[in-house]
Amino acid sequence: MKQLRNTRQRQLVLAAVRARRDHPSADQIYLDVRAVDGRISRGTVYRNLSILEESGEILHVKVPTADRYDNRLDLHYHLLCMGCGAVKDVELPYHRELDRELAEKTGYFIARHRTVFEGFCPECRRRK
Ligand SMILES: [Zn+2]
Ligand SMILES: [Zn+2]
Repeated sequence: MKQLRNTRQRQLVLAAVRARRDHPSADQIYLDVRAVDGRISRGTVYRNLSILEESGEILHVKVPTADRYDNRLDLHYHLLCMGCGAVKDVELPYHRELDRELAEKTGYFIARHRTVFEGFCPECRRRK
């Protein structure tokens, strides 16, 4: 019975991450899940986010302000607005050749690189 409840809670958390394209924080996911299941605790949501991340079902994006979650699993870069904190996907190709070049130079196995571009979005620029 407990197992079933765990599975259901995990599915709720996964659905909440997949439903958003704006790279939500753990807290935003908690609020979304909470709207569906009023009894779920913050700890449960956070724990399930970690489990889903470990199993590779979701990715997290490290940005200077907070850890955010991503509904995309392919390698891509991010754009952070330093004004409103919005995190968007960058429509530029991922440069696999950088990983290869560094691997050759250093002998490391390079799994990936992460790039976060920082600036101000058009709305924040207009407000200035
Ligand atoms: Zn902005
Ligand atoms: Zn993304």
